[in-house]
Amino acid sequence: MVKRITCIYCLKDEAQASFKKREHVLPQSFGLFENNFTLNGVVCDSCNKFFGDNLELHLARGTLEGGKRFEHGVKASKEFKSFGKRDPTIIQVNEGPFAGSYAYKIYSKEQRRVVITPAPQVGFLIKGTDKFDYYRLENIPNIDELRQKGYDIDSPKGIFVPSKYYEIAKKALNERGISFKALEEQDCSLQADQHWECKVTGTIDDKVMRAIAKIAFNYLAFWQKSEFVLHEDFNIIREFVLNGKKPGYPLVRIMNKPILGDEPVIGKRRSCHMVTSNWAADGVSIVSQVSLFNWITYVVCLAREFSGAHKDIKRGHFFDFNSHSILELSKEKPYR
Ligand SMILES: [Zn+2]
Repeated sequence: MVKRITCIYCLKDEAQASFKKREHVLPQSFGLFENNFTLNGVVCDSCNKFFGDNLELHLARGTLEGGKRFEHGVKASKEFKSFGKRDPTIIQVNEGPFAGSYAYKIYSKEQRRVVITPAPQVGFLIKGTDKFDYYRLENIPNIDELRQKGYDIDSPKGIFVPSKYYEIAKKALNERGISFKALEEQDCSLQADQHWECKVTGTIDDKVMRAIAKIAFNYLAFWQKSEFVLHEDFNIIREFVLNGKKPGYPLVRIMNKPILGDEPVIGKRRSCHMVTSNWAADGVSIVSQVSLFNWITYVVCLAREFSGAHKDIKRGHFFDFNSHSILELSKEKPYR
């Protein structure tokens, strides 16, 4: 008889042959670890593929955490890939003549490192100053708002566009009733090789939240085994990870505190990723915390008012990407 298995995500009963791939609790793009935590024979190959092609790719390329992989040496600069202009990780230049303008990161083959390049945007000159306010194309206000804000949109030098975006910017401006004529001398000297201090802002979108929720659920499944996580009270988190369907309460929240009680909110923390699972303060809901690069802490509600067996699920691990080891957080050590 063919052995059938239920996938802990899509809940389909499939023959064992559809469970060939290993699902990594923490995506491999965030580091390789000795005795790595993997789920074998519980996540079907089609869910595994979907996660790899969608959620994990997005988490690695489109987020601030993804960018941190290069800062921390988890990935070599030459492997840098981004979504380019569609990158939700927006950098704002903090200083220099283009302060406030937007940029994104690309890998420069010539320079062999990750550099910044201007993003599509329009700058409007603030009347009576030599300063511009910058807007990404999709956020350009309409002509009345621009006048109200006091921009000098009628003077030829009042509108600034990086030269490589003249055409698309012109179109975006025209749609809002603003005429734009490129000036020859008005070229963008926001060069990729300039070392300006940048403020990086990222969008934490649903796909990021789903990728984080998957890490949390994987971690619970790794320790509590599939029988426990197949409970129907986990259907909400399953649906969120697979389809992005949300209930009327937040499944993933951001906590501006490190997981370990002895670490500062701002300042140097241990260089590792961290994942925990525990009962929530209400004693009946199941929560997990995920922190990549021990930076933003995401609190994931895995099951609200869980009706299944109440057992000890408090656990936490840190994934040290420098030594490639995974260490358990002790129950005595204060972690939230
Ligand atoms: Zn599946």
